[in-house]
Amino acid sequence: MFLSVKRLTKAFGELEVLKDVDLDIDKGNIVTIIGPSGSGKTTLLRCLNALEMPNDGVFAFHDGIEVDFSKQPSKKEVTALQRRSGMVFQSYNLFPHKTALENVTEGPLIVQKRPKKEVLELAENLLNKVGLGDKMDLYPHQLSGGQQQRVGIARALAIQPELMLFDEPTSALDPELVGEVLKVIKDLANEGWTMVIVTHELKFAEQVSDQIIFIDEGRIIEQGPPEIVLKSPKQERTQQFLQRIL
Ligand code: ADP
Repeated sequence: MFLSVKRLTKAFGELEVLKDVDLDIDKGNIVTIIGPSGSGKTTLLRCLNALEMPNDGVFAFHDGIEVDFSKQPSKKEVTALQRRSGMVFQSYNLFPHKTALENVTEGPLIVQKRPKKEVLELAENLLNKVGLGDKMDLYPHQLSGGQQQRVGIARALAIQPELMLFDEPTSALDPELVGEVLKVIKDLANEGWTMVIVTHELKFAEQVSDQIIFIDEGRIIEQGPPEIVLKSPKQERTQQFLQRIL
């Protein structure tokens, strides 16, 4: 087990967005979250790396560290939690005035304060890995959406996280650019990364996921391997959702 999430609850004011969510993520597994718009998928992902602070719940990690949100976690605990995971955003969120290379080196150099030579070598390797070895010195506006998102993936990998989080990584892309980004994510899946992915790309989800979670109105309705959740879901709400989007 990499991470066990217990009773995760998150509200925005009066609006309860996540209700008592229990979730286990095994090391090296790919967990995909699907569900209707507004069901709490992005909020769940953002809670996993404390971009949103849960109101309640416990995260228990494989190394014995527990973060209990029923008490206010310390700043140190929150920072340690954030450093475990790399987030890839729907809208890339690259620094517009930095080159692809500088976007990737920023986290390890400025936040982690790692040696420059080592960071440059790492960033170059990562940009090569995502197929952008010849675009390192270009700025985001000089890159296609698919290329920007691949820089986003390299940037998340650069902090050497234990967990990769993807928030609808292809939903802002033109259809012809979706494949190149999914290919990079598939390559990471084959390398054994632990990942949680929010996506509407069901075919992709079926190919890469060890576990699929269907979430509706802030609750997990159904979870299991893709052949069950996507092909023969037990819950009526899952069936209805799949009928709507297939
Ligand atoms: P999904 O990713 O499934 O589309 P979200 O997690 O983005 O759903 O949103 C779930 C609900 O929480 C929605 O009703 C949304 O409007 C609300 N919400 C999300 N973020 C905030 C926020 N920062 N402040 C207030 N409400 C929010």
